[in-house]
Amino acid sequence: MGVSVVLFTSNLRLHDNPPLHSAARTADAVVPLFVRDPAIGSAGFDAPNRRAFLADCLADLDAGLRERGARLVVRSGDVTEQVCAVAAGVDADQVHVAAGVSGYARRREERLRAALEAERRRLCVHDAVVTAVAPGEITPGGGDHFAVFTPYLRHWLGVPMRGPLGAPRRLRVPDGVRSEPLPSRAEVSGLSPGLAAGGESEGRRRFARWRRDRMAAYHEHHDDLAGDATSRLSPHLHFGTLSPVELVHRSRDGGPGADAFVRQLAWRDFHHQVLAARPQSSWSDYRTHHDRWRTPRSAAREVEAWRAGRTGYPVVDAAMRQLQHEGWMHNRGRLLTASFLAKTLYVDWRVGARHFLDLLVDGDIPNNQLNWQWVAGTGTDTRPNRVLNPVVQGRRYDPHGEYVRRWVPELQGLHGSLVHEPWRLPPAERAGYDYPGPIVDLTEGVARFRRSRGKE
Ligand SMILES: Cc1cc2nc3c(=O)[nH]c(=O)nc-3n(C[C@H](O)[C@H](O)[C@H](O)COP(=O)(O)OP(=O)(O)OC[C@H]3O[C@@H](n4cnc5c(N)ncnc54)[C@H](O)[C@@H]3O)c2cc1C
Repeated sequence: MGVSVVLFTSNLRLHDNPPLHSAARTADAVVPLFVRDPAIGSAGFDAPNRRAFLADCLADLDAGLRERGARLVVRSGDVTEQVCAVAAGVDADQVHVAAGVSGYARRREERLRAALEAERRRLCVHDAVVTAVAPGEITPGGGDHFAVFTPYLRHWLGVPMRGPLGAPRRLRVPDGVRSEPLPSRAEVSGLSPGLAAGGESEGRRRFARWRRDRMAAYHEHHDDLAGDATSRLSPHLHFGTLSPVELVHRSRDGGPGADAFVRQLAWRDFHHQVLAARPQSSWSDYRTHHDRWRTPRSAAREVEAWRAGRTGYPVVDAAMRQLQHEGWMHNRGRLLTASFLAKTLYVDWRVGARHFLDLLVDGDIPNNQLNWQWVAGTGTDTRPNRVLNPVVQGRRYDPHGEYVRRWVPELQGLHGSLVHEPWRLPPAERAGYDYPGPIVDLTEGVARFRRSRGKE
């Protein structure tokens, strides 16, 4: 039977975790290992909100392991070196890990395999851990990935998915394995004040509550900005405290709300399979229109106003302030703020994607970059030149202005549709509101974008 190491990456959970399940079944003793990788920090990916959420996840994972007779081993440093050192220390014959999707994760896997094999140890890579359907498992005739969502979804729904695996009951860690102290949320500064709590226990509670109370009506209310009717499970999916396979399984045959939710999980897998096939699309156009974007320098005033939630377009500002305050933003808000930056202001989508990655607790390369590209029209959207009008979006998805008033307190006193167009107030009344005028004329913004795309 021997000893196995389980390297936790984007699967910080005990339930439905194939690497952990397989190690627990096949080895006498298991080292549950998490490596704090300095490469993530030096690439600018360890934003405070994600670092704090990660600390919660590791603490909860450790607590769950201790209930089962084990504990989490934490090390810092180069992943290959640390895994090899731990594996050598306990003379492990196998190391289990979830298959990665990004270029970085794949390179890490290759390095790890080569280093372990040189020491006659085996790397066992498990699919369908981070996604419900592994990238590359379904492909269109003659292609390596789907570039259009609808046919992808059709195939995705037909994939036979395994049932969720239970959490191991007991685990034994070999004696004498050294661990660093767990990181703690209290050590992280610069957090969003309304950041949610992380960890598998919290994720499972949240899903159970949402499934009981809100899932049935999800298809009707998911775009309602003030209603906050979406699951808010994205950080849990990002850190893998919840398993997408288990979520699909527990939502199947649950009616139109559940079907709409499963469809969103398919969107997540869709972006993962695009990135897996085109790793360069994390920072380069997936489909270029040879845009000559405005840059943070040439559009400095507008970019700053967008980041600060001071564009003068209330629904844009509300969403940007939600992002600052919670480290999370409603999907409809993400769509309309991204369209505003990339199309109305015609600023390079990478500027917006970077800002989102700096703040989003769920910020990840496949979903963030490919959604930004989708909105900017350089990605997989089949209508790449559509532009969302923030006034129309506000009226449609925040018809009573509640979302705007929640996040833009300067406009508390405004009612009806005026909350989306404060510039229409008579000048004397307007002077009473400490709120900026619009930073761009919408018609001119759209004309600039269409001209740049050769559409005029
Ligand atoms: C510009 C932009 C940037 C985005 N950046 C990210 C990001 O960094 N990380 C991230 O997880 N999502 C991102 N999204 C997708 C989406 O906005 C979030 O997943 C969603 O808002 C999370 O809220 P929720 O968990 O309540 O979603 P729900 O509506 O409850 O959906 C359930 C789950 O489905 C997945 N999902 C939903 N919509 C999408 C989508 N369009 N693409 C991929 N997966 C989706 C998420 O994992 C989500 O948790 C982005 C969207 C846009 C337009």
